[in-house]
Amino acid sequence: MPHAYLDAWARRHAARIAAWRAGGRAYVGRFAPSPTGPLHAGSLVAALASWLDARAHGGRWLLRIEDVDGPRSVPGAADAIIRTLRSFGFDWDGEVVFQSARGALYQAAFERLRAAGQVYPCACTRREIADSVEGSRGHLSGGDLVYPGTCRAGLPDGRAPRAWRVRVPDAEFAFIDAMAGRRAQNLAREVGDFVLKRADGPWAYQLAVVVDDAYQGVTHVVRGADLLESTARQIYLLQALGHAVPRYVHVPVVTNAQGEKLSKQTRALALDPQARDAELEAAWRHLCR
Ligand code: GLU
Repeated sequence: MPHAYLDAWARRHAARIAAWRAGGRAYVGRFAPSPTGPLHAGSLVAALASWLDARAHGGRWLLRIEDVDGPRSVPGAADAIIRTLRSFGFDWDGEVVFQSARGALYQAAFERLRAAGQVYPCACTRREIADSVEGSRGHLSGGDLVYPGTCRAGLPDGRAPRAWRVRVPDAEFAFIDAMAGRRAQNLAREVGDFVLKRADGPWAYQLAVVVDDAYQGVTHVVRGADLLESTARQIYLLQALGHAVPRYVHVPVVTNAQGEKLSKQTRALALDPQARDAELEAAWRHLCR
C-alpha cells in the first residue's frame, strides 16, 4: 500500500483538506488510464497523486479504463494495468468502469448537444485543415490543429462527413488549478470547434471523459499537466451539458533524458512490480519537487 506517503501528503495539504472537510462535501477522485500500453513511471505519478489526494480528503477513488478508442487500445493492456495497480497496493472503490461499455451515455450527451444546434458535420481532412491555418499559431501543443471553422456553415457540396464537431464560443474559459494556478483559454481562438466523434466510429476522449466524470460524480480531477490544455474544452462541455465542474489538480509530467513526456510513443519502460518500492519512492519524490 502506498499508505506510507499518505500522512506526508495530508500534512502538505492540510489547509485545503480542512477547508474541504469543513464544507461537509464528499470527495470523489479517479484514475483514468488509456490501455494503449503498460503503466510507466509517468502514469504511476498520476495514479499516486490522485490516490493520495482522494484518500487524504477521506474520499472515494475510482478506476476507469479509457478504452473508448478501440483501435488504439492494445489487447491485454487493461488487464495488465489493473494487475499492476493491485500489485502496487492501490485500492479503488466500486467496480472498474470501461469506457467501451458506455457508448449509449456518450450518444445521449451527443444528441443533447446536437438538439441544441451545437454540433455539425465536418468533411475536412487533416491536410485541408493544415493548408488553411497559418504556421505554428495554428497548433495546440499536442499537435492538434486549431480548426478554422471551414464546415461551420454547412458541408461543401458532395463531401461526406469525416467527423462531428461542437461549436465553441469566442470566450475565455478560466479555472484555478490547485498546482498550476490560474489558467485560461479562449476556445474559439486557441482550439476551434473540436471533434466529438469521428465518422468512422470512436467517440472523442473530450466527450467521453466529461460524460464519465459527470456520471461518476467526480469532484476532483488529479492528472498529468499534459492535460491542462484539454481542461477548458472539458469545462465548456460540462457546462453545455449542465453538469458541475470539478476541481482540477494537474501534476508535473515525468520526462525522459530528452525532455519528452514519458509515453508509449517515447518508449517509456513498463513499471517493474519487482521494484515496486523504488518505483513508488521515485513517483513520490517527483510529486515533492
Ligand atoms: N486517459 C487519459 C490518459 O491516459 C487521461 C484522462 C484524464 O485523466 O482525464 O492520458
